[in-house]
Parts: sequence; C-alpha cells; structure tokens
Amino acid sequence: MQVHEKRRDITASVAILKKQNKTIGFVPTMGALHKGHLALVEKAIKENHIVIVSVFVNPTQFNNTDDLVNYPKTLDADVALLSKLSTDIIVFAPTAKEIYGDQMSSIDYDFGGIENEMEGKFRSGHFDGVGTVLKYLFTIVSPTKAYFGEKDFQQLQIVKKLVEIEKMSVQIIGCPIYREESGLALSSRNKRLNAEQFEASPLIFKTLQQVQKDFGTKSVTTINKWVSDQFKNNNELELEYFEIAKASDLKSIKRKQKDTKYRAFIAVFAGKIRLIDNIALN
Ligand code: AMP
Repeated sequence: MQVHEKRRDITASVAILKKQNKTIGFVPTMGALHKGHLALVEKAIKENHIVIVSVFVNPTQFNNTDDLVNYPKTLDADVALLSKLSTDIIVFAPTAKEIYGDQMSSIDYDFGGIENEMEGKFRSGHFDGVGTVLKYLFTIVSPTKAYFGEKDFQQLQIVKKLVEIEKMSVQIIGCPIYREESGLALSSRNKRLNAEQFEASPLIFKTLQQVQKDFGTKSVTTINKWVSDQFKNNNELELEYFEIAKASDLKSIKRKQKDTKYRAFIAVFAGKIRLIDNIALN
C-alpha cells in the first residue's frame, strides 16, 4: 500500500503506469471513509488495473468554517480500511499547500446554471471549490475513470460538466447511494451525530420514499407542503430545503411534465450537522 503526500510522487507513479498502458481508476474523497466510499473503491478495482484514492478535506468547497474545522480526519483508519480491499491501492493524502501552493482560491466556473440550484443556493462558492480541486486532482492523477456517488447527485452533474469544460478525457462513473439499514445515507458527517440525532435521522429517507410513492398521484405543491410538515416541531431535525427537480438540469418544478425524469432533493440540519439525500422519482 503506497501512501503519498507529495504530488510529484503521484505523478511519478502515474507516469510509470501510463507507460505500461495500465488503466487508472480514481476515487476522490475527503476521508473518514465508510462503506459508501468503499463501494466506489471496489467498483474502481473491478474496472481498472490500478486504483488511486485521494483523501483531502478541500478548504475551498466549505462555506462554513465550523463544518471545515470539525470535519472528521482519520487517515490511519482510512488506510487500514483500504488495505483490506487491496494492497495495490495508491492513497494520495496531500496538504492544502501541495494542491494550492500559496494561493488558496477557486476558479470561477460557469457550469451552465446547475451550480446555482439547491446546494449552490445554500453553500455559496461550494461548486467552484469542488470544480477547482477536481481539476487539479484530475491533472495530477490523470485517471481513465473517476467514481462519484449519487449521494451528491448535484456534484456528480457538476463533475460531468467540468470534464466537458476543461476538455479532460476522464470518464465519470456515477454509483448508487449506500445506506444504513435504517435508510440513512452513509456520510462522514454521520460520525458527528449524537444518539438522539442518529435516532431521528431515518426520517430523511422515509420522507423521500413516501414522496416517491406519492409522486404519481399528488401535486408537487401538496408534496412540498407534506414534506415541510414532517419536519415541523421535530426537536432534532430542521429542514433546510426540499425540492423536486428535473434530473437533467436540476431546476425545481411546480408542475410535472410528460416524459421527463425527476428527482427529489433534501437537506436537513441535525444541530450543526448538515445531511443531504436524494431519490429518483420516476
Ligand atoms: P466525500 O468524502 O463525502 O467527499 O465523498 C467522496 C465520494 O464518495 C463522493 O463521490 C460521494 O458522493 C461518495 N459518497 C459519499 N457517501 C456516499 C454514500 N452513502 N453512497 C455512495 N457514495 C457516497
């Protein structure tokens, strides 16, 4: 198992692999790895000769200092988990300086409007940070395929757009959401939930499942009101947003149209911990 902090060590390994015509699967993460991340890594192992996993808590995608400071950092445990899957994985765990040098700033991207919906509305500058770090990481790692979870469905669309804009040859692969038995989507932030918050959290996915059931027969307005009612008077969970949006451009809708794919998106606060989830509706 190789663990590198320096970009020059990764570029050196990548140059050798490319000479040998090896395919590289890349899984970018912020660490505190869980089974959702590992499912991405397992898929990457199956589909490529070599897998590189980055562990980097990217400061430029955080609009909330509390969230950045308290983001769990567990590199040794992450490496131990990955080495159980394969000892051939290369881990890239750089410092912020290694990625950004002395200028820690984001590129100002135009992702065609997707960046202004939902997460973009509530996390100002978030997708510029995501786009910037992935541009740098893709350049260093030079992957054949890169793997992203549908848990961050909006991010997945942004990454597809980024690759188009930057004319990068990497193939972007979306992977299904991995959940607790209770339905709670796995997230590194779940580690910060207290017992009461954890117990309350299955309501998020239960709500999405009910929305999926009702979508064919009830109006969007009725569903929106029903969802908002589910979180009213809840001591542990506070709804930040719920939206039904077109899967293609993530624009929220008031009325359904024929032959269009829709998804429901939700963001909820448990205390200071922000949890997101989404579901396909048709
Ligand atoms: P993060 O470390 O949260 O930045 O996530 C790294 C990658 O893992 C992203 O592509 C996420 O969408 C993906 N991911 C995180 N949680 C899950 C999950 N529960 N199921 C599937 N993919 C996930």
